Order: sequence, then structure tokens, then C-alpha cells
Amino acid sequence: MPKKPEKIDTKAMAKELLNDRTHGSKKAGAAELKKADKFAEGYKEFLNLAKTERESVDYAVKAAEANGFVPFDPSHKYKAGDKVYYNNRGKAICLAVIGKKGAKEGVRIAAAHIDNPRIDLKPIPLYEASELALLKTHYYGGIKHYQWTAIPLSMHGVIVRKDGTEITVNVGDKPGDPQFTITDILPHLGRDQMRKTLGEAFTGEDLNILAGSLPLADAEGEQLYKLHVMKILNEQYGVVESDLISAEISFVPAFRAADIGFDRSMIGAYGHDDRVCAYPALEAIFKCKTPEHTVITCLADKEEIGSVGNTGLASEYLNYFVADLAAAEGLEPRRVWSASNCLSADVTAAFDPTYGYAYEPGNSCFLNRGVGISKYTGARGKGGSNDASAEFVGWVRRMLDDAKVVWQIGELGKVDQGGGGTVALDISRLNADVIDVGVPVLSMHAPFEVVSKLDVYMAYKAFKAYFEAK
Ligand code: MN
Ligand code: MN
Repeated sequence: MPKKPEKIDTKAMAKELLNDRTHGSKKAGAAELKKADKFAEGYKEFLNLAKTERESVDYAVKAAEANGFVPFDPSHKYKAGDKVYYNNRGKAICLAVIGKKGAKEGVRIAAAHIDNPRIDLKPIPLYEASELALLKTHYYGGIKHYQWTAIPLSMHGVIVRKDGTEITVNVGDKPGDPQFTITDILPHLGRDQMRKTLGEAFTGEDLNILAGSLPLADAEGEQLYKLHVMKILNEQYGVVESDLISAEISFVPAFRAADIGFDRSMIGAYGHDDRVCAYPALEAIFKCKTPEHTVITCLADKEEIGSVGNTGLASEYLNYFVADLAAAEGLEPRRVWSASNCLSADVTAAFDPTYGYAYEPGNSCFLNRGVGISKYTGARGKGGSNDASAEFVGWVRRMLDDAKVVWQIGELGKVDQGGGGTVALDISRLNADVIDVGVPVLSMHAPFEVVSKLDVYMAYKAFKAYFEAK
């Protein structure tokens, strides 16, 4: 008689053969969730202190020096365990810990960006209209215009006076500070506006900052509203209108970072993209003991507008930094680069059920499933993307699993729904292996973005494991 076939244990089979879909919080466990909560406190502090690339570099330099890093001197011979940083114009920074093998077998780089979408002033911003003082702006990065109206804004940046002195401004975030805003029309009179498409209803030229409403007191004449604001700026900063030509003034949401949800599992804040990777990449290099290979955390500027300019990663400064490290060891920079790899540490989109139509759920990142890997980004058939090799993806997932990092893999959204790019492209140009690894974000590029505390902590664990890997 033929033997009755054994009943297949599909549960055991699925465990062996199929992807593990256990929830991230379960995979991580209570002890790790607690560590994630603690890590989030430091991150929130950073978010409140550093809202622009300049403020982020100031923070990084201070924190680096407190952790034993010193300014990089290309003529110096470094030894394993030495910690250095290179500050590029106060807007981008590279930090390195010299490894036991130095740069001989390549370096390991975590590259995040510290610029965020925001509202910049035009060179001649101040004007008055109908008894109000206003500021003309030119937005920076990919924003939905309407999201930036009717919210409190704070002012950050620098003004370089004609005599060369540089003034730092930071108004609107400290308690008691005045704040700013961009007005919107009331719904009662919104008929014309509501008929327009979302893209047409709020143009870039409509993003005018409300800066004052009183004319200069005890005075007669023209431009009294403008004069009043300029008088205050002159008293406070010693500047005149023409000094605003040589200035970089940004208006950003004045919100403070806050826990989100009854369970406090998430953080809402301005500018998670990409400070949510920058902070963990900083913390990871600070906690890095003498690594095997030289490790680098690079915090770049200008990613949001295409990594352009000399502080963006399309510039050669990271290349030069690595070349200098290589030269100090008598190595050919191009050989060092060809043996190097990099985690392009940038955010990805988290699946949002309210806008589920834009995602392919099977290949999306979700909040609380850990740090997200993107093999490729880009748009229209992976155009403009760095498509990481199967070999490198294999190495990365082994490295993450060995370090018990909770991670996930996903695409930015549905095929042909849109797309985006990161600095991965710029670094892969140097013949290094690069992959995107970052934190999933809800409401990306909105004035108030949301991430999960567990994912932020797992990003830190991922970068730390990467730096420590053999
Ligand atoms: Mn980004
Ligand atoms: Mn972005």
C-alpha cells in the first residue's frame, strides 16, 4: 500500500522559505524600544538646536570636539584611532576616525545631508504693500507651496555687511521671540482660489513673509513701513538694506520637535529629511572605537536642490578629503575610492494608508519596520539612480543581520508615480559601492514631518555596525 504523504507544516515552511514579516517592534524587543526612546531625546534636542545646514555644522563641530575630534591637517601623519574633521565653509562637514588598516582597503562612508526644504529671502526682499511690511522669498527645495502658509516661521541665517563682518541671525525659536508667517486667504473669500488646482492656487511669488504692520512713528513721508522694519534691523544687527544682498536668510517652521501619538512612538518635527540620518551618522562615528577601516561621516549641503555648489556632494570636497587621507598613507586616491563603499544615508517614503494609491505596499517601507534600504531610487525606469549591485546589497544585509539591526527594503512609491534622487549618484561616480539606507518618513518635505523612534534608533545601529564591520 502506498504511504500516505506526510502533511506539510506550512508554518515551518513559510518561516524557512518566505520573508520574515514580523513587526519591527517585536523583532527589536522591549529593551531596544526603550533604547530607541532614549535615543530620540537626544535627536529631538538636535532638531530644536539645528534647523539649517550652518546650524547643523555648528552643532557637529561642537559635538565632534567634545568627542575628541580635531581639525584635519593634510600634512599630518595620522595613526589608528585618530579623529579628525574637515569643515567646508560652515555648511558641510566630513568627520573621520582613522582605522587600523587606514584607507588601504578603502574607506567606509555614511553620507547624509543637512539642508532642508525652506523659504529663502530674495536679495532685495523688503517691500511694503497696503500698510504692511513684507519680504519677498524664493523657496528652496521641493515644497508644496500651500503647506507653508499660515504656520509660524522662524528666521535663520547670516548677513555679511559691506565691511565684511558676518552677523548670525536666529529669531523666532527662543521663547518670547517674535515669529513670522505667510498669509493665506480666508475660506469665506476663497472661491477663486478653491477653483484652481493645488499647484496653481499658491505660486512661488505668493510666498511673502509678513514682517511688520506699523509705520515709523513720529514721521512723515514715503516708505514708512519699510523704514520702520529697516530701523529695527539696523538697531539690532547694524545692517542696512543693501547688506541683505550678501546674506543667506532662511525662514523655517518655528515648531519644536514633539512626540506624536498616544503611545509616543513617533517624532514630529521640521526637517527630518535628512537630519534624521545626519544625527545617527554623527552619533555612530562618535561611538566608533578604533575601526578596522577608516570611517567617515559626511554631512552635506544642497542635496535638496541637486547637490550643486561647492558644499553639495556634486562638488569634490569629499573626494579631496579622501584623497588627502590616502596621500597621507602614500596611497593612490583612485585605488582607495575603488575599494571604498558608502551608505547614502537619506530618508525614504513611509507607506501612508491615506494616500495608499501612490505606493505599492509589497515594496514600500513602513513606520517601525526599521531602517529602510533602497537598492535604487530615480524615476521613469530607475533614471537618475544608483542601482546598488546584488553583491553589495548582499554584504549590507549580512552586516545588518549580524548586528541585529531591524531593517526593511522598499521603493519610494509606485512605478512611474514620481521619484527622487539622493547623493548616492555623486559618490558612486568615484567608483565606490553605494546604497541608500535611511529612515522612512511620513509627510516628507512638509513643514512637519513624522518618523518612528524605533527606525531612528535602528539607523544609528546600522551606521555603527557599518563602521565596525570588518
Ligand atoms: Mn533627503
Ligand atoms: Mn528631500
